Amino acid sequence: MTRALFIVDVQNDFTEGGALGVAGGDAVAAGITAHLAAHAADYALIVASRDWHDADGDNGGHFAAGEPDFVDTWPVHCVAGTPGAEYDPELDTAAVTHHVKKGQGKPAYSLFEGVTDAGETVGDLLTSHGVVDVDVVGIATDYCVRASALDAIDHGRHVRILTDLVAGVAPASSDAALAELAHAGAELQESNR
Ligand SMILES: [Zn+2]
Repeated sequence: MTRALFIVDVQNDFTEGGALGVAGGDAVAAGITAHLAAHAADYALIVASRDWHDADGDNGGHFAAGEPDFVDTWPVHCVAGTPGAEYDPELDTAAVTHHVKKGQGKPAYSLFEGVTDAGETVGDLLTSHGVVDVDVVGIATDYCVRASALDAIDHGRHVRILTDLVAGVAPASSDAALAELAHAGAELQESNR
């Protein structure tokens, strides 16, 4: 059984104090670090993604021109090369095997839309490493965690959401996302860290 871990968008702009900070983001970052300290060896592949938007333009309508609706349009966040786009300092990335960037010039919720610095897609990595099972953690439950997990299921993988290691933008949409993921075949369970 070959397992991968996806660490979705644990970045300063998505944790407390960030441009689009979600409540519980720092705790998720620290929790993932603890999970990795105990379980990194369980994973053949540890993929961390970063939202990585262009400084110029609205990134395909992703950045709101006026008031964001927090569904399809958002405050400016995770601009490439800025502190907000960096990993939260509570996240220890030493065990990460592949770093993926997504969202250059366009909205990209799923880490399957990104590539590594070497140009590999996450789909390529799962195939080349023979990954069967995928654990998903990170931010935000109702957007990028949801989209990444649904894509992993679409790619034929068995998915677990580690529910104590995700944080969402809003409680109702986060609950709905977890229900949708369970319906799609994901297991919801705590991390045992
Ligand atoms: Zn974004």
